[in-house]
Amino acid sequence: MVKKIILSIFCILFFLSTSFAKEEPKNVILFIADGTGPTIMHLLMQYAKLAPNSPFKDRTSTLEKLINEGKLSLVSNDTAFSIVTDSAAAATQFETGYKTKPEAVGVDKDFNPVDSVLIMAKEQGKATGLLTDTYVLDATPAGLFGHVQNRRNYTDLSKNLLEVKPDVVMGGGFNHFVSKNNLKSGVLTNILNKVPYKDDITPKNQDDTTFETLLKSGYAIAFDEKGLSKVKGNKIFGRFAAEGYPFNIDGLKSAPSLTTMTKKAVDTLSKNKKGFFLLVEAGEVDWAAHTNDAATTLREMLEAEETLTYLKNWTDKHPNTLLIITADHDTGGFGFNYRKMTKEEKEYKMDAGYVQGHYDYISPDNLDKLLEQKGSFYILSKQFKALPKDKQTPQKALDYINKNMGLNLTLNQIGLEENQKDFNIEKAFKKASENLGVVWNTTSHTSSPLLAIFYGAEVKAPNIMHNTQIAQIIREFLNEK
Ligand SMILES: [Zn+2]
Repeated sequence: MVKKIILSIFCILFFLSTSFAKEEPKNVILFIADGTGPTIMHLLMQYAKLAPNSPFKDRTSTLEKLINEGKLSLVSNDTAFSIVTDSAAAATQFETGYKTKPEAVGVDKDFNPVDSVLIMAKEQGKATGLLTDTYVLDATPAGLFGHVQNRRNYTDLSKNLLEVKPDVVMGGGFNHFVSKNNLKSGVLTNILNKVPYKDDITPKNQDDTTFETLLKSGYAIAFDEKGLSKVKGNKIFGRFAAEGYPFNIDGLKSAPSLTTMTKKAVDTLSKNKKGFFLLVEAGEVDWAAHTNDAATTLREMLEAEETLTYLKNWTDKHPNTLLIITADHDTGGFGFNYRKMTKEEKEYKMDAGYVQGHYDYISPDNLDKLLEQKGSFYILSKQFKALPKDKQTPQKALDYINKNMGLNLTLNQIGLEENQKDFNIEKAFKKASENLGVVWNTTSHTSSPLLAIFYGAEVKAPNIMHNTQIAQIIREFLNEK
């Protein structure tokens, strides 16, 4: 009798455990760090490990832990017609599985519309969401819902988004949902009173009815971090900037951080019993790298790191979740290089005791030094150019650069001469950063291979792959019983 009772308890427990396992929903979180080739990922990992003032207690970034504990693949991102890609073709390829042309969104190489993994998740009854710190019609999110031959067709992309209606949509880009007539006619007056960035608005939508469609679409719309914290429902449309957010280094103003948005999205989407698909884009790594600004790039990576820490913890608690971390392409071709020192520098460095011979092999101190920079090159240059013309002298530029980068350079070291009339302040900033060993190959994208990390749920991922295979892996994962 006792045996029978024990056996039936065992059977019930076994039944419960298998039925619970079946009910555990499948989630996919796709984290894209835009423009983040391996050397930019490595900048974050080296900062954590080597910077004397690294705030990382165990000197290991979450990104490195994800690589260690997950599965790592090397990814190519060539398009149907090119070796180098833009974000649109890249996003289309890893979100739909089809090769396409640069600048095309959600269409194959012959411009036939193709569906993304977000659409597949939606058809399975899952909740869906996308968020970015650039604008939501930007290429990386757009590949999930849009079908246009050129990524700048914002009117059609806004229509595509409002047809697909993902449950959670967060980012910048108020501009892309309003027309010039909307502004003139005054229909937006009440709304604009709630918009902290209203002075930045430049309408870019050609259709006067788009904004009305958005208002009727059942979303709770938030315009700033406070507004977002108050949203209770399951459908959120966060519009937190006229275009992209400010860089983290310049302060986000009223926009929520990438981590704040991600937490809100995961809390909201995970209420769906069938699971969810979420895209999180750290989009401004790319923008920082386009301006060859290493400090701003590192700040963006530190924000991405915070979001990844949250996502890793969440994934650890929800084992049927596939967390994928990758990039669409590399921007800039970043690195540190050793460089020949001047005589004075040599003496100084020899005193510091870590350099031999003629070359500066770049001290890890420089990683801390990067974070002394007080603003992005973009904003700092803009402020300098706003000074009265007679104040824009080479000496003033030098003082300004030294002050804002925490350096003590000479005119020669920022590439300027004493009586030089015309000069480019952005170039002078870039030249200044070369003294920290920073090098960039280009201000555009490169063909560098990328890293993709598969973490959480087990998937079969080849060690080397094309980015179209990422979409295939997601499809297979969602289809598996
Ligand atoms: Zn780019």
